[in-house]
Amino acid sequence: QVNTLTAIKEVIKEKNVELLHLQFVDIEGILKHVTVTAEQVDDVAEGKIMFDGSSIKGFSPINRSDLYLQPDLSTFAVLPWSVEEGYSEARFLCSVKNPDGTDFEGDPRNVLKKTVKKAEEKGYTINVGPELEFFLFETDETGRPTQQTQDFAGYFEPSPHDNGEKVRLEIYRALKAMGFTIEASHHEVARGQHEINFKYADALTSADNATTYKWVVKTVAKKFGLHATFMPKPIAGENGSGMHTNISLYDLNKGENAFYDAAEEKGLSKTAYSFIAGLLENVKSFVAVTNPLVNSYKRLVPGYEAPCYIAWSDSNRSALIRIPAVRGAGTRVEIRCPDPSANPYLAFAVIASAGIDGVEKGLEAPAAFDRDIFSMTAEELFLEEIENLPTSLEYAINEFEAGEIGRSTFGDHVFDEYVLAKRAELDSFRTTVHGWELENYHTKF
Ligand code: GLU
Ligand code: MG
Ligand code: MG
Repeated sequence: QVNTLTAIKEVIKEKNVELLHLQFVDIEGILKHVTVTAEQVDDVAEGKIMFDGSSIKGFSPINRSDLYLQPDLSTFAVLPWSVEEGYSEARFLCSVKNPDGTDFEGDPRNVLKKTVKKAEEKGYTINVGPELEFFLFETDETGRPTQQTQDFAGYFEPSPHDNGEKVRLEIYRALKAMGFTIEASHHEVARGQHEINFKYADALTSADNATTYKWVVKTVAKKFGLHATFMPKPIAGENGSGMHTNISLYDLNKGENAFYDAAEEKGLSKTAYSFIAGLLENVKSFVAVTNPLVNSYKRLVPGYEAPCYIAWSDSNRSALIRIPAVRGAGTRVEIRCPDPSANPYLAFAVIASAGIDGVEKGLEAPAAFDRDIFSMTAEELFLEEIENLPTSLEYAINEFEAGEIGRSTFGDHVFDEYVLAKRAELDSFRTTVHGWELENYHTKF
């Protein structure tokens, strides 16, 4: 890995890098960057590049708008698609600083860094492996996305049905060139839907990777004249796209996975059970973060492998939390509600805090629930005391605002800005007359 300034300068020379993109994300996880020339690399490394924070969603007010970018040198990567075109560009992911050199509290990456640090003080490294699904859509002659999927293939189908194989190959190559370890790639259940999996890492690296992945997928798709979307439910009646999040704690004192206990019946430690309990206890107040769009709640409905009930299980894909079969160093919890429109920094921070909260309080998980929850009646669910996940963004935001996990993880700045942004989005949706309303009411009434 290239992560010292000297090594970076060598690559810049050797690959003839002309431009450097300094990247960060806004409160919604949308990637932003400013571009400087490679000659400025010393200033870049010293965090001297400034920008206007008042133009970034959820950042700073107009009267305190000067912010600085401090690149994380380990995220240096030459952009493979620029090399193909015969010149070179590179990027860094950055943390945002105040003019006095302190961390800017509105930066989602700083929020996750703080969460990671808190966990380290408690003796844990947070490891995360996200699985981001996406759709490929055809574009029209002006390059705008249409509603036509690129193919009609299904789960694990090869070519000629799977039209995305070549695109996935290019995405894989680009990600690999940027330092990713790719584990698998396949067509997903819905037409035009795909998934490429990369190796788990510490929470910050994984959030960086998820951000880079989304950018690379969209960029490569565009080269094929396609539109890639991480919108959670682009087609009604088909599977949506999830960002299942595999998470585990590594015990820094014992030097082992804190979720594994060989002596226990299911091979899970007390820490793992408490972590699961912490997720179950807090999930209602964090889905506004893991499932941030009006559209997110159209995915969380029965019958599409996306969870809608608050329960956990060893292997049941209808449950919110699943424990993948692997044990030992790979023991982990898979939380299935998050979708890829979530800001990965904020999502991983709030999920980890919720789980660690359970560990700290020594919460006990309810018994695992192994029945197919989708086939249960409302009465059965009631008797089993299985609750629904929030069914709308409005419900989720209300829970987020009333809960404690959001403010304690994000700090006041990001928490307040997040609520503000989501309330504005809801208002815009609520006051819009949608196609469905016209179809169902216009002639009938
Ligand atoms: N696409 C499904 C979802 O919305 C998940 C399918 C899978 O298990 O990979 O979460
Ligand atoms: Mg999948
Ligand atoms: Mg999964």
